[in-house]
Amino acid sequence: MITAKPILRQVPRWQQELAHAIHDPAELLRALELDPALLPAACAAAKSFPLRAPLGFVARMRKGDPDDPLLRQVLPLAAELEPAPGFVPDPVGDLAMQAAPGVLHKYQGRALLVVTGACAVHCRYCFRREFPYAKTGCGADSWQPALAYLAGDASIHEVILSGGDPLALSDRRLGALLTGLNRISHLKRLRIHSRLPVVLPERVDDSLLNLLAHLRLQSVLVIHANHPQEMDDSVRAALTQLATTGVTLLNQSVLLRGVNDAAATLIELSEALFAARVMPYYLHLLDRVRGAAHFEVKEANASAIMKKLRQRLPGYLVPRLVREQPGQPAKTPVW
Ligand SMILES: *Cc1c(COP(=O)(O)O)cnc(C)c1O
Ligand code: SF4
Repeated sequence: MITAKPILRQVPRWQQELAHAIHDPAELLRALELDPALLPAACAAAKSFPLRAPLGFVARMRKGDPDDPLLRQVLPLAAELEPAPGFVPDPVGDLAMQAAPGVLHKYQGRALLVVTGACAVHCRYCFRREFPYAKTGCGADSWQPALAYLAGDASIHEVILSGGDPLALSDRRLGALLTGLNRISHLKRLRIHSRLPVVLPERVDDSLLNLLAHLRLQSVLVIHANHPQEMDDSVRAALTQLATTGVTLLNQSVLLRGVNDAAATLIELSEALFAARVMPYYLHLLDRVRGAAHFEVKEANASAIMKKLRQRLPGYLVPRLVREQPGQPAKTPVW
């Protein structure tokens, strides 16, 4: 008898790691030897925005410490459910700004593409935690409407892939998109905003490096790290490979109470980033999204922290403190 052999398509290692990310609050508490009394609140808060954290990221957290700066970014807390005036579902007003399905064209010369709603980690402070991705064109099988929009506006020189996390796309889908973008002759730069090189550095594999190495567009990757403890050997190795491939590396952070709202922490972060060939870019004031009020740092405190950074770091290692103000033609600097 002849049996048909199933076609074995190899699942890349990073996708296997992603599939094993922790999404059960009980499992996270167990793995970190934390008090089970945290569980009911974590489950309640996870209902509106589920927990998600890759095992490799969890491994960088300290056991038995409920205030660990990495844990605080991912553990759902009761505080998220407390109403806070001024904290709203879409603080940035993105939904009204779509120029074409999945395209946000707010700033001159740059257009941002929301290419997926998926992320490898769910950051509790994320301004898109309630973003209705289904109402955008993202996740559709075709990039055609977005590509047609970009092709039709010669003033756009830079395309920014965002989400969600664009590197959560498979290389097949990402590759198809990059091929389309590469063909639009007035585009000069491809920028990717991604937290994957930090939370799941396995994503930076030969296949991805190969895609990036063969672009006509100059490529910039803006990673997202908030605390020096996020930078371990695996992250440094991934970033070094990207830099060697010719990708310009920048970092953006969000200023978060209880995570990185201390000058010493941010100085250490800038040093750690530069050691991994990454330049600090933006330090964002928190967007006032519902459920994130407990992360807010007052503007006066933020300015005091920045003053210390400017005194203690070379100018090129000081990130720009900015806030997002709906309707403005650029991010607004804060001093
Ligand atoms: C932040 C943002 C950009 C990029 O701004 P830069 O200052 O160039 O980093 C572009 N488009 C949108 C919609 C944004 O929110
Ligand atoms: S990775 Fe970025 S988009 Fe995804 S949850 Fe975190 S901050 Fe939000």
